[in-house]
Amino acid sequence: MPALDTSNIIAVIGAGTMGAGVAQVAASAGHPVLLFDTAPGAAQKGIDSAAKGLDKLVQRGRMSEQDRNTLIARITAVETIEELAGATLFIEAIVERLDIKQQLFQQLESIASEQSILATNTSSISVTAIGSVLKRPERLLGMHFFNPAPIMKLVEILSGLATDSAIASNIYDTAKAWGKQVVHAKSTPGFIVNRVARPFYAEGLRILQEGASNPATIDAIMRDCGGFRMGPFELMDLIGHDVNYAVTQSVFEAYYGDQRFQPSLVQKELLDAGFLGRKSGRGFYDYSDGTEKPEAQICPPCPAPDQVEVAGQSAIADIFTELLSNAGIKVSRIEADEFAIITQHATLKQSNGQMATVRALEEETDDLILLDLALDYAAASRLVISAADQASLSAVDEIVGLLQKIGKQVTQIDDIAGMCVLRTVCMLANEGADAVNQQVCSIEAIDIAMQGGVNYPAGPMAWADQIGIENVLNVLDNLCQNYGEDRYRPSALIIRRAAAGRPFHE
Ligand code: NAD
Repeated sequence: MPALDTSNIIAVIGAGTMGAGVAQVAASAGHPVLLFDTAPGAAQKGIDSAAKGLDKLVQRGRMSEQDRNTLIARITAVETIEELAGATLFIEAIVERLDIKQQLFQQLESIASEQSILATNTSSISVTAIGSVLKRPERLLGMHFFNPAPIMKLVEILSGLATDSAIASNIYDTAKAWGKQVVHAKSTPGFIVNRVARPFYAEGLRILQEGASNPATIDAIMRDCGGFRMGPFELMDLIGHDVNYAVTQSVFEAYYGDQRFQPSLVQKELLDAGFLGRKSGRGFYDYSDGTEKPEAQICPPCPAPDQVEVAGQSAIADIFTELLSNAGIKVSRIEADEFAIITQHATLKQSNGQMATVRALEEETDDLILLDLALDYAAASRLVISAADQASLSAVDEIVGLLQKIGKQVTQIDDIAGMCVLRTVCMLANEGADAVNQQVCSIEAIDIAMQGGVNYPAGPMAWADQIGIENVLNVLDNLCQNYGEDRYRPSALIIRRAAAGRPFHE
């Protein structure tokens, strides 16, 4: 079945934040749109809010006045549900309650043609459960837009157990024709984005709970070194701790208490205190007038050594050789299996998921300093280190000075297994791999979803390929051993790919 052409009427039910945005998306693709809401005047208000958003585009010269008027004229507010009868596709964006959604879809089934398609924009309710009360559950699917719908590129197309695959592919093509990045997934708790994103928050909270650093520093690390647009704490403050905690808890419960999704006591404390984030004026940060955001920790300036040895024949060894040489430091390359930068007093290595202190003991290298993962070591403005407890202060200073000399801000965190960016990215890839292994979606869908739905700087699966799947497995094994917790168990798919020497993207 090809995509729905623009002669098809789209009905949007619920004209709040999401419904108004979805109506705008369908209208901007050229469809006539009917918008309905039970709250009197809400449908017209939804159109007005879409119009206001478009006015900004007109003011900035990104849309002509005529196009704006044509688009808005395609959306009609209707007062009764019966007026929606002529639509081909019904997209529901009402209150997030199973019973109310079921009731609405039963009503829609009774007025709509048998050929019409029903879609829910639910963020957490099972499509299978909504469809269980319908006469034609095969014609129901999930069409999960992200907020704000006209701007966020991703749409997750979700199949319940009864959903007809031809209908899912029809709506997949339709959303694509509307200019969206589209992924298909089975309707499982959290779908793709809300499931795979959990470790982004969970690892940040864990790192904070263990006192490895503070929120402002961890946020800066995830931005400046990890390349994420926002760090976990500023993002949770923006989303609201009530909403973010509720999503985590619902995914945790839906997976029968799997430790991977365990909510954090740190976040529960904020919730108990009523510190909900930006909307309440306080979360991890204080948003009251005149309060400045705390500065991220950076190491004070240290002198750099004149010469170093760079060990190993890897891409990272080449990158650092170039950065150091360009900064006027004499580099001698030496043969080794593993990348390291060796100075007079210190050895700098990439984190492998062990604590520096434990690794220093195992490798009999007291002055061991570890480097966190960076999205791009050359481009990153900040690099992150941690030191073994055995390491001398002069060893730390030498590495700090060296990294400063190549133009980086250097942040030292306390010695924690897997550091910040590395453990977060490995856990994101682990969750993505588990979703793929459990047949929820494809590897490609994970990367598209996390980049299009939450703006990650790279897809977690492609990023795992870049790190090397065997290295990701090693990090997870080390985290598992460090904590003795099931939460860090590697996905069977990672174990399998590492054993076969096959990347996720071949
Ligand atoms: P909202 O509260 O802004 O809007 C909901 C609208 O639905 C309200 O205008 C309400 O009057 C109307 N409504 C309630 N019951 C109705 C009924 N039986 N018939 C017709 N209209 C009814 O909510 P929202 O944030 O737009 O969320 C809507 C849906 O989209 C929810 O299922 C939510 O989980 C999902 N969602 C929300 C977001 C988000 O970030 N807000 C993102 C993705 C998905």
